[in-house]
Amino acid sequence: MRYSEMFLPTVREVPSDAEVVSHQLMLRAGLIRKLTSGVYSYLPLGYRVIRKFEQIVRDEMNRAGAQEIFMPTVQPAELWHESGRWTHYGKELLRFRDRNDRECCLGPTHEEVVTDLVRNEVKSYRQLPVNLYQIQTKFRDEIRPRFGVMRCREFGMKDAYSFDTDEEGAEISYRKMFDAYNRIFTRCGLRFRSVEADTGSIGGSFSHEFLVTADSGEDAMTYCTSCEYAANLEKAEVPRPDAKTVDEKEFLRLEEVHTPDVRTIEEVCAFLNVTPQDVVKTLIFSADGKAVAILIRGDEEVNEIKVKNYLGGDELELAMDDMIRDVTNSPRGFAGAVGVKCRILADYSLMNMKNMVMGANREDYHVKNVNIGRDFKVNDFVDLRAVKEDDVCPRCRSAIRFARGIEVGHVFKLGTKYSKAMGARYLDKNGQEQIIVMGCYGIGIGRTVAACIEQNYDDQGIIWPMALAPYQVIITPVNVKDEALLRTAEELYLKLAATGVDVLLDDRDERAGVKFMDADLIGIPLRVTIGPKRLAEGRVEVRLRRSGEVQIISLEEVSDYIVNNVKEQMQTILC
Ligand code: ATP
Ligand code: MG
Repeated sequence: MRYSEMFLPTVREVPSDAEVVSHQLMLRAGLIRKLTSGVYSYLPLGYRVIRKFEQIVRDEMNRAGAQEIFMPTVQPAELWHESGRWTHYGKELLRFRDRNDRECCLGPTHEEVVTDLVRNEVKSYRQLPVNLYQIQTKFRDEIRPRFGVMRCREFGMKDAYSFDTDEEGAEISYRKMFDAYNRIFTRCGLRFRSVEADTGSIGGSFSHEFLVTADSGEDAMTYCTSCEYAANLEKAEVPRPDAKTVDEKEFLRLEEVHTPDVRTIEEVCAFLNVTPQDVVKTLIFSADGKAVAILIRGDEEVNEIKVKNYLGGDELELAMDDMIRDVTNSPRGFAGAVGVKCRILADYSLMNMKNMVMGANREDYHVKNVNIGRDFKVNDFVDLRAVKEDDVCPRCRSAIRFARGIEVGHVFKLGTKYSKAMGARYLDKNGQEQIIVMGCYGIGIGRTVAACIEQNYDDQGIIWPMALAPYQVIITPVNVKDEALLRTAEELYLKLAATGVDVLLDDRDERAGVKFMDADLIGIPLRVTIGPKRLAEGRVEVRLRRSGEVQIISLEEVSDYIVNNVKEQMQTILC
């Protein structure tokens, strides 16, 4: 491609409304332009990167045995009623009515559509397993679109769905996708981790997220310093402490204390001369309309996702005042476990506490010396708290660390959630009807490209890894009015293009400095500079974008040098 003919609007200034580097650089390098909130166009350079990434995804999906299909964006509400998600999905689902008043939505994901497709066609175990994927546009009406295409409303996703006869088969399908994801992100030269994750609104029993490590990432993860354990913080487990034997002789007399104007843990500690480790917080939640008391030590925080997953219902929220009054006989702020009229779940942090301080279920009072067993009963001890950096690994008890990341992919074991609800069945070898076991697997196309920029840039601009680079080499004659320079550039351009290398010729009538700046900004991995002095010696300069290293190479050899360098950079990533 000739630069002079390209639709490539670059920008020098940093756009004021772009918070993260990838968003700034995608705008500056002319990759994307915004249409409206969370909705973007890809310009030619940006779309080339998208296509390159999609091709890597396709290669690896096909290699793993998945088959490409293409499903519609518009989906009928009936299917979503069948799965139960029409009411469940909330406002992210963009709903509308067609001219016949039929309810529809724009697909934020395709479990319903693909399950419908498969239930209509698959009858026998002989047709299974099957894995279908597509690369297609999703719409999610995100509450806060931001960071450009990283969290937008309309975006490209690769979504795959596996269908197996049993759990064992589903596990194999999951593994295949897991391995394919590792290959995909490795081929892009990304630094990433796969972490255990919460299943969120997709549901299912188990999932892994693929997080590209970046300080700007919206996700937080923890990983073990010695074993393989890694998890999204939403899901990260706390090991169950060993229960110590209780000596009831150490239980002190239960005592109610008048504590006017004492609300926070700090105020309780100061007033009663105790530490947060002696105090228990009691939070009353409404779980699908039923009250449940969650107890946690004063210095810890509840992880609501853990509570929700343990209770398994649809909706969990902090209880309203009237529910609190119903179960504690007191206004908000004085809840405790003694005498509370609802189910009690205690976090592991309570397991070895004794003579605790907590709310008295009476306005302006606390109770001291509360003991489990004597003063109240716990329905269950559960891991309900947020992990902290000084916790230990739940698998091997070594030290853990925290890091931030960008979720680029997510693989789920769905089990029979959708196949059961929507009646996707098959006949087994004995002619018995069985339910299909499913998995689903997503990769954000634009988000991965943006995440790649977050890991590959400098003050001058983007530094594309060879596999995603929109062009692998840019040829820069420093002065196009110099016939000899331009002719040499043109010849090299045609020669390289014939080898299959993606080459851009900067044939613009611009100062060399401007061309160099643009080449750096758009991040082309190799730049061939053709200037009069070197050309007189029959040589040109090849500069590596990432290291800034410059090689002086003879005209005869430069084409081979580039072809080899491109090949090498593609190969070092994946053998
Ligand atoms: P998040 O927690 O970031 O909202 P999610 O868990 O909702 O993501 P999935 O439903 O697993 O995402 O979707 C699969 C993939 O699609 C994600 O891993 C991500 O790469 C991409 N993706 C999801 N939401 C967006 C979005 N709003 N903009 C761009 N890509 C997205
Ligand atoms: Mg989401």
